[in-house]
Amino acid sequence: MRDLPGVGATLEHSLAGLGLRSAGDLLGHPPFRYEPAAPERSVAELMIGEEATIEGEVRQVGSRRSGRRLTLVEALVSDGTGEVSCVWFNQTWLLEKLLPGTRLRARGQLRRGSFAVKAYDLGEPRATADNAPVYPASEEVSLKRLRGLVERVLPLARELPDPLPASLRARLGLPFRSDALFALHRPERQGQGEEGRRRLAFDELLVFQLALARIAQDRDSSEAPALGAPGSLIKSYLAALPFRLTRHQTAALVEIDGDLAGSRPMQRLLQGDVGSGKTVVALYALLRAVEAGYQGALMAPTETLAEQHFLTVEEICRGLGVECLLLTSALPAKEHAAARARIASGEAQIAIGTHALIQKEVQFWRLAVAVVDEQHRFGVEQRTALSEDHSPHVLHMSATPIPRTLALTLYGDLEVSEIAAPPAARKPVVTSWVFEDRSAEAYRRLRKHLDAGRQVYVVCPLVEDSAGQARAAEQEAERLRKGELAGYQIGCMHGRLRPADRREIMARFKARELDVLVATTVIEVGVDVPNATVMIVQEADRFGLAQLHQLRGRVGRGAEQSYCLLVSRPKEELSEPAQRRLEALVRTSDGFELAEVDLEIRGEGQLLGARQSGLSDFRFTRLRADRALLEQARAAARELAPTLAGSPLEGELKERFAELELGELA
Ligand code: ADP
Ligand code: MG
Repeated sequence: MRDLPGVGATLEHSLAGLGLRSAGDLLGHPPFRYEPAAPERSVAELMIGEEATIEGEVRQVGSRRSGRRLTLVEALVSDGTGEVSCVWFNQTWLLEKLLPGTRLRARGQLRRGSFAVKAYDLGEPRATADNAPVYPASEEVSLKRLRGLVERVLPLARELPDPLPASLRARLGLPFRSDALFALHRPERQGQGEEGRRRLAFDELLVFQLALARIAQDRDSSEAPALGAPGSLIKSYLAALPFRLTRHQTAALVEIDGDLAGSRPMQRLLQGDVGSGKTVVALYALLRAVEAGYQGALMAPTETLAEQHFLTVEEICRGLGVECLLLTSALPAKEHAAARARIASGEAQIAIGTHALIQKEVQFWRLAVAVVDEQHRFGVEQRTALSEDHSPHVLHMSATPIPRTLALTLYGDLEVSEIAAPPAARKPVVTSWVFEDRSAEAYRRLRKHLDAGRQVYVVCPLVEDSAGQARAAEQEAERLRKGELAGYQIGCMHGRLRPADRREIMARFKARELDVLVATTVIEVGVDVPNATVMIVQEADRFGLAQLHQLRGRVGRGAEQSYCLLVSRPKEELSEPAQRRLEALVRTSDGFELAEVDLEIRGEGQLLGARQSGLSDFRFTRLRADRALLEQARAAARELAPTLAGSPLEGELKERFAELELGELA
């Protein structure tokens, strides 16, 4: 970066803050919008309120204060048809630049007799041009600065080779990569920037799909144990379930059976909203392995979640005479070693844990099925790690609602099973939004539920650090014990507790020894107590939409009607996004719909599990709008994969997915 004129250590540092470390990064910094076209007007033609561009000579310049914090710079500009006073706010340094006689091009609006300047140029028109790019900038690096830098490096785009085979490019009607970059940064007409972006997005998607195609190829050449058809253990398991499986669950089991029957390792994504009943399906897959004389493993992203799964699974397995164990890195060294020994000898038939399970020192005796919960949190890398040493069948579970078509194409190497609807016996959670001043009434309602034998979660407000969070939870529990909920058994759960203590508290809550569980977001996933029918979320405006949806999923798990109370300050005091989030939650409990709302409020970059799955590296792609492009990239990847070796695309693939150790995938 320092090679560029005007870039010193400070600017370099600020640019790095925007993720811009090289000329290539600058080229790949897409504008998020373009200035709309504005007509060129002479001063005499200017109309009040119309955005327009004028050009003329500075006659006179000065500044004055206006109000307490505003300083105006005023320049009298003449273009032969008339004179107008151009004004800028708080940019006194312009005084030195706008010397009389200077040619100025300015874009803005005539308001109260002056021309309020939005953008200007003192030399070549750029900022004032129609369709001028508007880049994400920062406090330290202004938009103007960025435009200048991009202008500087843009000629380099001319030299970039185009890695796409010409025939493919022509067939899809895509521009050359260099033209796309010019179009992106310096569109000459409306819509041209978008055409450029699409080509660059296609490249991103193609490279991603190629990586997935490689993983799929890899799978063709490895083998997992073929498990045949289900037998008597499975029969007992299904018979022991206290409910009938839903149509969607049954369909998922059939699909899984199909995969397990063969020796091509299963790679299936089991998608379903919170509470839709994925665990039953996962345990089915694990028991299929046990039944055939192999082992199963269930891997969860956090210790709490692993422990929850363990509690659920162990209870069922005990009745079936199947040995389970829990392995997390929190285990003392001796117990950890003992657990590993049981895994290695095959004594443990099902192992449940965090990614402690895939550490090198853990050797399975005969692993046939691995279930990975919340796969998006593991990302592509771990998806491969698990299948490297052992080639088990893998079932990925995710509660992140991604429309099926999108999931199929994003995770091109995975088959998808979807539990599209929750068990029918389930009543949707009744959600209401109440304000703090009425929370006394909320607690009165709560006591009614407690007296009827139900259990309750109280979720504490989010605080910055985990120590503060733990303290807040403890204090809240104490406050409720003395105040609103005196006389009830109240437990408290947070991330600072030792895993053994957490487990004990969960077990007591499950056993109904506790009426109320005051908790932090550690209960966000995995906690399953059907008798808990009320959840109060304090300062609900502080949580994200997806997080609130996950939290709410902890209730509404039994046949009883459940309630969720979102407590916040008065509506007027909340930001608009916070209001929209809470309104959406009251309106619907459909995870897909909420995901759409979330997307609208937060914008593209934040899409769902995007960050975790490596998708955040997408700079140009807009997952929702580019659905068709994604399909094209997927088809192209299939076509190109066999002849990839030595092609320019392979280079890009290696560069982009260096962390994936492609050698091992090939
Ligand atoms: P998730 O998809 O969030 O993992 P779970 O598997 O934990 O959901 O299921 C949520 C609750 O629904 C559990 O209490 C489970 O026992 C119950 N459940 C699962 N399947 C059914 C069904 N077919 N009928 C009734 N209840 C079910
Ligand atoms: Mg679950």
